[in-house]
Amino acid sequence: MILLKNCYYIASFDDDKSFSDTDILIDGNRIAKIGKEINVDTAEKNDLRTIDCPSLVVIPGLVNTHHHFYQTLTRNVKPVQNAKLFDWLVYLYEIWKNIDEDAVYYSSLVAMGELLKTGCTLSTDHHYVYPENFKGDLMGIQFKAAEKLGMRFSPTRGSMSLSKKNGGLPPDSVVQTEAQILEDSLRVIEQYHDTSEDSMRKIVLAPCSPFSVTKKNMKEIAKLARNYKVRLHTHLAETKDEENFCNDKFGKNPLALMEEVDFLGEDVFFAHGIFFNDDELKVLKETNTSIAHCPSSNMRLGSGIARVREMLDMGINVGIGVDGSASNDSSDMLGELRNAMLLQRVKYGPSGLTAVEAFKMGIENGNKILNFHNAGKIKEGWLADLALFNINKIEYTGSLSDPLAALIFTGINHQTEYTIVNGRVVIDKGKLTGEDEDLIIKKGNEIAARLLKN
Ligand SMILES: [Zn+2]
Repeated sequence: MILLKNCYYIASFDDDKSFSDTDILIDGNRIAKIGKEINVDTAEKNDLRTIDCPSLVVIPGLVNTHHHFYQTLTRNVKPVQNAKLFDWLVYLYEIWKNIDEDAVYYSSLVAMGELLKTGCTLSTDHHYVYPENFKGDLMGIQFKAAEKLGMRFSPTRGSMSLSKKNGGLPPDSVVQTEAQILEDSLRVIEQYHDTSEDSMRKIVLAPCSPFSVTKKNMKEIAKLARNYKVRLHTHLAETKDEENFCNDKFGKNPLALMEEVDFLGEDVFFAHGIFFNDDELKVLKETNTSIAHCPSSNMRLGSGIARVREMLDMGINVGIGVDGSASNDSSDMLGELRNAMLLQRVKYGPSGLTAVEAFKMGIENGNKILNFHNAGKIKEGWLADLALFNINKIEYTGSLSDPLAALIFTGINHQTEYTIVNGRVVIDKGKLTGEDEDLIIKKGNEIAARLLKN
């Protein structure tokens, strides 16, 4: 049991209720009680950990809806610091083709460590590079890392089947055959997909993009996902280059191509979605298809500004993703909410996005995208996935008339004091509890140097 004693401010995201100077009792993996001066039975006091929270703002854990963990090892690579998406990809594929088991494990620890430290409790990942010489269970390695750090994890089985020789963008060395992709997608669903209410493992299927996967393969993957009721994901409408590619090769826009391969619906979410026209937005709305908005990546690659304000007004479900660490180049989840809020204001003026809307995208909409229905509210009976930020610091001073908005309007870093996932304290006084941070840093830097040298 954990008692969060005397919390300065709790933003429940349950009918916009908030509480001051209130306790939260966690029993097992659930929120058991919210109230003033909660008393715990003497019999239960032996297992009780009490955390004093008079300086802490408590929110439900944030949800990251798009990432590429392996890219944490190729951040900030100088030759492509200023490249646009296609040039950036072509350069990096040559480095990524040497990714091995160690690289997958430690990059997952790096990415998840950073996410947990910035308030994220549930993340997806989109791993689509399966080099020829990679042996072993790639997703199993990622689940091992997630379990070690205590993250709720819904990875996608990514894939690429269309290489350069057939008109795609990636080299042969990182693509797989359609049969290999289908076989392994089925394996990971059967081996790992857990549909229980408090699942720590949910699988998504995610062919990489229209310029790296065959149409036939996308259709087959959609069919497989629906047979097993798992979600579908891909990159879409990220750049003008992609739109031109689709029109040249298939004679249609990216979204029309998705319609052709059965990639629309309540179970589908697209990363980015910048270049949709009015009619295409209507299709998203009518089909209940969701968007994972990645503002930092879109700014970093100079891709453009997604029409999030209009999407939200139309009732389209939009979550937030940090995107891969080679195009962000961080996994700062709370910072991503700040960037989402600010970037919409560049396009639409000061009412482009409010702080509360940014939080709702990062919490409620994200949980909906990843198909979690008991997380995202601080409410009795709901999953104990929480982020606690210390606002008793210079950088928050003077901002406390609205403690929730203070987290993204002010501050100089976005780190939690505590992060709790499924009732387990995974960030304790700002540090990971599941693994030695120095080891992750050392191994991560060693592997990154080795990859760049190849
Ligand atoms: Zn991406």
